[in-house]
Amino acid sequence: MIVDNYRQRGLRNKLVKKLREKGIKDEAVLAAIGRVPRHVFFDDALLIHAYEDKAFPIGEGQTISQPYTVAFQTERLEIKPGDRVLEIGTGSGYQAAILLELGAQVYTIEYNQKLYARTRDFLPTLGYKPFFLSGDGSKGYPAKAPYDKIIVTAGAPVIPDALVSQLKDPGKLIVPVGNLEKQAMYLVTKKNGKTETETFDHFAFVPLLGEQGWKK
Ligand code: SAH
Repeated sequence: MIVDNYRQRGLRNKLVKKLREKGIKDEAVLAAIGRVPRHVFFDDALLIHAYEDKAFPIGEGQTISQPYTVAFQTERLEIKPGDRVLEIGTGSGYQAAILLELGAQVYTIEYNQKLYARTRDFLPTLGYKPFFLSGDGSKGYPAKAPYDKIIVTAGAPVIPDALVSQLKDPGKLIVPVGNLEKQAMYLVTKKNGKTETETFDHFAFVPLLGEQGWKK
């Protein structure tokens, strides 16, 4: 049974307020964070931390991203209802839930088999139904390309070219790029046959593995 009572809603409103103070402006993104029950993505022992603006372990050595990071990446993508979005790194499914709340059609790919299976079975119980894919998302997912938006939620050593080529024109890709400790956020915008890149400091993600990621 999923419990989402006034207490959790109150904590969520506080989190939304904090994200606003930290500079998140997109009201649709803030409203989505206000709706998705983040605490149900947490193990019981970590429940009290669910509405802190921090990343937390979700098992398999992976993390649920910090709410500010989720909000920042989502805001930069300017999601519109009906956008076809590819997410690399399903993890807990929290980011996918936010994208679905914004009306996107979401394809989400996870490399870790156990996490893939766990989230594929769990997320739809909350009413969130992206297309779940398993495999190496550093190569994108050509079968359903092109995408309006692509979001990478693991830190890459370089911008994976496969992802740029699977982006629609116009389209936007957001990907953290750097070393294993720290990454800058790269926003790649494709428009009129050209691509432009903007960067934003500083973020810390778990590593993107696979062909265009870090080698194990
Ligand atoms: N978006 C997630 C955050 C996940 S952390 C959430 O909201 O909870 C990053 C995830 O990327 C991890 O689950 C990791 O297993 C996955 N990952 C790493 N390399 C990958 C790859 N090449 N393809 C797909 N997923 C990958």
